[in-house]
Amino acid sequence: MVKLNTNFRNLKESYLFSGVARRIREFKAANPSADIIRLSIGDVTRPLTAPVVDALVKASKEMGVAETFRGYGDEQGYGFLQLKIKEYYQKTANVTVEQDEIFISDGAKSDIGNFTDMFDTDNIVLVPDPVYPVYVDSNLMDGRKIVYIQGCEANGFLPLPEEKTQADIIYLCSPNNPTGAVYTREQLKVWVDFALKKGAIILFDAAYESFISDSSLPRSIFEVEGAKDCAVEFCSLSKTAGFTGTRCGYTVVPKNIVVDGVSLNRMWLRRQTTKFNGTSYIVQRGAEAVFTSEGYASCRQSIAYYMENARMIASTLDKLGIWHTGGVNSPYIWLRCGMDSWDYFDYLLREANVAGTPGSGFGKCGEGYFRLTAFNTKERTAEALARIAALYNR
Ligand code: PLP
Repeated sequence: MVKLNTNFRNLKESYLFSGVARRIREFKAANPSADIIRLSIGDVTRPLTAPVVDALVKASKEMGVAETFRGYGDEQGYGFLQLKIKEYYQKTANVTVEQDEIFISDGAKSDIGNFTDMFDTDNIVLVPDPVYPVYVDSNLMDGRKIVYIQGCEANGFLPLPEEKTQADIIYLCSPNNPTGAVYTREQLKVWVDFALKKGAIILFDAAYESFISDSSLPRSIFEVEGAKDCAVEFCSLSKTAGFTGTRCGYTVVPKNIVVDGVSLNRMWLRRQTTKFNGTSYIVQRGAEAVFTSEGYASCRQSIAYYMENARMIASTLDKLGIWHTGGVNSPYIWLRCGMDSWDYFDYLLREANVAGTPGSGFGKCGEGYFRLTAFNTKERTAEALARIAALYNR
């Protein structure tokens, strides 16, 4: 008889954002006239920009003509997009990455989840708490042991390793989802030195790098000396360019990383060529347009739009005397809710018809905190803030 992967028993019943969506659905079913504003899941509201749409249309038309039609592409992505990403790294982070270190994918979530294929189950996985839940869940599915390193107000939600910290695989997320905290170069250097000393690997999630406006903060871990010997970086066009529904991301696996005589880059290529059929040609042409000067400028406008929402949220919380962080180099605002975070979720939904995300869903250290996102429209964000202010001023 077939045997299931019993590690799935170790997962919580539902993925955090499915749980949030279910509670919103149930509330709506019980209160059909409620006009719920979602500042919860990190999905975008701005449409794809014109240069991207033009590129998608052009590529679609190419697919309908025999001479320009494309079938299976290279699983690791088309050279035209890898070269644009290589240039982007050079321009934005002053980092040199080789074309064959860049793997195009259908998004960071898949790559982050799939990358665990590279590692034995007998590894200690170090995960910051609170953080994006995919790191924990994908390792639990494989049956790996997870240890947590605690983020808190005292360390600015940016934990650093100590001499006694144990880790073989280290997840870092900067800018952090959910707290919005961003590691400095000096702090990342501490992690890189630690990983090199312990023979560990850093899986660095840079999905929100384009939201960093402070030029003194690193947008890539490869800005730090030694990182190309121990770190893999995951990036996404989901928030940078509104690709949450279009799907494209990229992962940089440096060729320098060799474990037990095996190149991690070659191993990932081997895995991808077997289990992944590549991102569609049409989508990769749309992604290429993101990295043109016109395309990038248009995406920057959407980012500026969201960051104005973040500023409005922070300003309202300040006026209400609610402690918060994030929202400056990240689209997430992390606030102290002063009660159990799921209770606060229910309270805000019930009393203001505003949905956010409970901090405890991101880890034990998130208990007592709450995440709001800047990804709704300006009008809906303003309306949500007016309702929250009215609730607090009642
Ligand atoms: N990493 C972080 C920290 C995220 O918050 C998200 C999406 O919310 C992802 C990765 C996934 O990005 P993608 O849409 O490219 O799969």
